[in-house]
Amino acid sequence: MLKPNTFLAALALTFASLPVLAEEVVVYSARNEQLIKPLFDTYARESGVKITFITDKEGPLMARLKAEGKNTPADMLLTVDAGNLWQASEEGLLRPVQSGTLQANVPAHLRDPGSEWFGLSVRARTVVYNTARVKPSELSTYEDLASPKWKGRLCLRTSKKVYNQSLVAMMIYEYGEDKTENIVRGWVGNLVTAPFPDDTKAMQAVAAGQCDVTLVNTYYFGRMMEKSPNLPLAIFWPNQNLTNKTAGVHVNISGAGVTRYAKNPGGAQRLLEWLSSDKAQSLFADVNLEYPVNPAVAPDKTVAAWGSFKQNLINVKEAGSLQAQAVKLMDRAGYK
Ligand code: FE
Repeated sequence: MLKPNTFLAALALTFASLPVLAEEVVVYSARNEQLIKPLFDTYARESGVKITFITDKEGPLMARLKAEGKNTPADMLLTVDAGNLWQASEEGLLRPVQSGTLQANVPAHLRDPGSEWFGLSVRARTVVYNTARVKPSELSTYEDLASPKWKGRLCLRTSKKVYNQSLVAMMIYEYGEDKTENIVRGWVGNLVTAPFPDDTKAMQAVAAGQCDVTLVNTYYFGRMMEKSPNLPLAIFWPNQNLTNKTAGVHVNISGAGVTRYAKNPGGAQRLLEWLSSDKAQSLFADVNLEYPVNPAVAPDKTVAAWGSFKQNLINVKEAGSLQAQAVKLMDRAGYK
């Protein structure tokens, strides 16, 4: 039998060897693992918080959140496109987060006015043109790509992709439905060939001279030029000389929100705040050649070399609220 003091010592040893239960945040992520793992590793190292994440497409992740309801293990949903985040909020999958840090770090047009989701990186959907066939002085606005001078010179990605649905939704907000439909009809009339399945294929067609101009997210341009720096392609920033609400390049976000039934909403909020901080912002934006959402953080060198531009300042939630209308409009206009 152990003497009392030996017993106490043994007891203390037993407790000391029990693992300390670390705080955990569970993230459902529609972003590539290679993109977010380094970030989560850094946060875990700095904070001691364990981050568990599940990667899938946004559709299945949102369906899973919905099906799991109150029993979901997820504390945070991370995805691309304001249209998707708006949808998650509409379906009651997120909760509002009151945070001075997030309000300060994320510009108002890049977060939900109801504080249920926040942009973490910015992607610009802009014009890319063939430098041998187009002078930048020929280019001006998204709208102008519908004019007859671009007949047989335009390539586009399919209207099935949320990026184009969001772009047209934002245009409906700016121009109204009738004018937007005329613009989209003009684009369709100017197409050289059927829409492409992705931004890269559309740019390849421009580089090959099949068409002169297209609309893409800048990071696809960045990736393509990193592989083949001599391609005759360049970026043009449209709608820069306007002063009304149609002014500025169309931007969208990748972003995140805290789930409605989070088990650790405080932990999820702290992670979200950290992701909007200076340090995390560079990491988050640079890996995918995107723009930091936090205006205090400079973009990566490659991205900065494309020049600065004025962003369109309409709240990106309209990409979601007008998405169904945009899809119908593109269908009517014959945009496949
Ligand atoms: Fe993309």
